Amino acid sequence: MRQLSCISYGRTLLLILTLLMTAAVPAGAVNEKGEFVLVIDPGHGGKDPGAVNGKNQEKTINLNIALKMGKLIEENCKNVKVIYTRKTDVFVELYKRADIANKAGADMFISVHTNSAKSKSAYGAETYLLGVEENRTSANLNAALQENKAILLENDYEAHYEGYDPNSPESMIIFEFMQNEYQKESLKMATFTQNQMTGTAKRPDRGVHQAGYLVLWKSTMPSILIELGFISNDNECKYLTSQKGIDEMSKSLYLAFSEYLDYHNKLLERAVPAAQAIGNREDENKSLPVYKVQFMSLKSPLKNNDKRIRDYADVDYYKEGGVYKYTCGNTTDYEAILKTKAEVQKKYKDAFVIAVYEGKKISVKQAREITSKSR
Ligand SMILES: [Zn+2]
Repeated sequence: MRQLSCISYGRTLLLILTLLMTAAVPAGAVNEKGEFVLVIDPGHGGKDPGAVNGKNQEKTINLNIALKMGKLIEENCKNVKVIYTRKTDVFVELYKRADIANKAGADMFISVHTNSAKSKSAYGAETYLLGVEENRTSANLNAALQENKAILLENDYEAHYEGYDPNSPESMIIFEFMQNEYQKESLKMATFTQNQMTGTAKRPDRGVHQAGYLVLWKSTMPSILIELGFISNDNECKYLTSQKGIDEMSKSLYLAFSEYLDYHNKLLERAVPAAQAIGNREDENKSLPVYKVQFMSLKSPLKNNDKRIRDYADVDYYKEGGVYKYTCGNTTDYEAILKTKAEVQKKYKDAFVIAVYEGKKISVKQAREITSKSR
């Protein structure tokens, strides 16, 4: 049960009142402090400068804008905890960046980067979420390939990215069926961000896209990657390294985050009363979110006796984006589904938990909040 918002003190009062009227959140609920955890990831750092243009380095642009954005959020948004993957000029492996967010139980992961192209005329801002586009362009593919090459500077990259080869465009195929349970939230955040960068900061619009960014692949929460602009374009490089550029870009990213936070809160507000209303009636389970383990995505459905699914209980599938997503398990008990997940992961190591509530897929985080609220 959380009401979080930016510069909205009326709602804070409401929050206090609601808290007083509500039984304590049971131990083990996500974020006992009731904070929204945001992880900001300034791309590159240390021995990895990222893209460069003369003396200007991507790592510095990313860090300046990310720090300022985080500062604005900390100053203006209530109950938001900001964690950075780096606050100084140090090298951090991509998988460790995702790890920081995963371990913190983050609600959102924002990776901040600056683009580069062979052609000096390319310019504009774009925002990515994980995935592969139907009409993928070589420009989108190249941006991700280029960013993923950062792992070549890691000591033991082969051990951490399951065979992904940063030198081979074909390697991107691993993202083809990548399951992203947070697609909807990621897309929301990406859209808010892109609108703010092109509106508030008036950057040329290169749109919202999907691509196979390793850092997004490894993080298990809604996540986006921002390409602020092109360091290779002299005008844009000048803008992004100027105080005006830093101020406008960080402000637009902060505003996008506030919009997302409002969206997130409204979802919670809608979900919580429903759980309360039905929660105390005879059939309590009916009002609670159900957890399942998603372990496979396919382009066509399987036969019921297919050996890939017959060992599992409560096998089901749902169709999303033209893909059949297979799940097993069906319980309102979060601890129980974690056990199922561990079992399934022996064979499908990317299996993850999804939550279904009133016929709709919601985030696990929201499901747990609804569950704890209904007790
Ligand atoms: Zn980068």
